[in-house]
Amino acid sequence: MIGILIRMMNKRSEMLSDPPVPAAEWGVDTQLTHWGRDPASFHGLVNIPACRGSTIVASTLEEWDARKRPDNPMASYGRFGSPLSRAFEQAVAELEGGHAAIVFPSGLAACTHALLSIARPGDHLLVTDSVYGPVRSFAQGVLKRLGMEVEFYDPLIGGGIRNLLRANTRVVYVESPGSITFEMQDVAAIAQEARRVGALVVMDNTWASPLFFKAFDHGVDISIQAATKYIVGHSDALLGVATANRATWELLRQGAHDFGQTAGPDDLYLALRGLRSMGVRLRQHQAGSMAVADWLRGHPAVDRVLHPALPGDPGFGIWRRDYLGATGLFAVVLRPISGAQLSRFFDRLQLFSIGLSWGGFESLVLPVEPPPRSLPPSLSGPLVRIHIGLESPTDLIDDLRDALDGIER
Ligand SMILES: *Cc1c(COP(=O)(O)O)cnc(C)c1O
Repeated sequence: MIGILIRMMNKRSEMLSDPPVPAAEWGVDTQLTHWGRDPASFHGLVNIPACRGSTIVASTLEEWDARKRPDNPMASYGRFGSPLSRAFEQAVAELEGGHAAIVFPSGLAACTHALLSIARPGDHLLVTDSVYGPVRSFAQGVLKRLGMEVEFYDPLIGGGIRNLLRANTRVVYVESPGSITFEMQDVAAIAQEARRVGALVVMDNTWASPLFFKAFDHGVDISIQAATKYIVGHSDALLGVATANRATWELLRQGAHDFGQTAGPDDLYLALRGLRSMGVRLRQHQAGSMAVADWLRGHPAVDRVLHPALPGDPGFGIWRRDYLGATGLFAVVLRPISGAQLSRFFDRLQLFSIGLSWGGFESLVLPVEPPPRSLPPSLSGPLVRIHIGLESPTDLIDDLRDALDGIER
């Protein structure tokens, strides 16, 4: 009756004695198909239904006491979790290779609450200069106001971070690759130095997803996913999830719990559903992104393609050493053109819409204005971020060819 969901909770609670699921040995597509499901507890239904609930009642004191046990997936109050949230958190924690995970109503909320749960007034925080923009604003605004010192570092710093670490450095925040400029970070080298001074490494692992970068194998303490992107994968829900290693889990759990963050059942349902097809989707995103990026390199209107999985890219060595795959997001720097020409490029595109939140099935473009500071000054043309969706790559190439050729007309 209690089934696989409870068995999976064992990792966290170690209270029940069912034989362990040999899941760590499964291939990733098998893991994605089976983790976070529990037909035995839901009348045989393949998927956990979208359970709605704030109040969760008991009819005896004994039952009420059992409800309040921390390992109870149905908990005692909706805000403490539901079968859906626990199943999703457990599946993501397993995929990331961490100890346990906690869900947030958006990717940004996962980033900000992970930081708030571990940093204190007087702490020094090192944040990569390539960080997702809203996290930069949060660090410069909220964290400074709370009495923390935030310093931005060169994403390519690697082991050189040792020169910036101080006795009071509490967090090193990494994001690899950066989601606008696509610099690859040497996460293991950074984590090794951070560990020496007792700083925690928090990583935004959204680009690679838990499938293509195993953050905990490279020394990360908290790995964050904007699940809105590849986990949900269909541009129809916002969700975030942060996974911690064993040593950091209590801090993250308590810190996040105290803020009262929850996610609704429909979004959790969609995220669990997204997991099922994530392997096949990411393979298609990867194939499309490699084909389109490679083609773009040869077009005369393109100055540079910023894509770490392309041989010759400055990040290629780290990508090949540390990553298991590439996803659909990269950027191009066009040769310098007029504003009217840039408009013509965007207007002629038929299959790419202009939009921010990537990771869905549809292809997107985004003008990045002004160009980020970290770009070499020799690259002075407009930067366009591209998300390759699940369309046929040849159609996407035809569309881009038409729009790029149109610039000159
Ligand atoms: C989109 C994104 C986020 C924020 O996710 P939301 O769900 O939109 O809040 C965080 N980090 C990266 C790298 C992102 O691309």
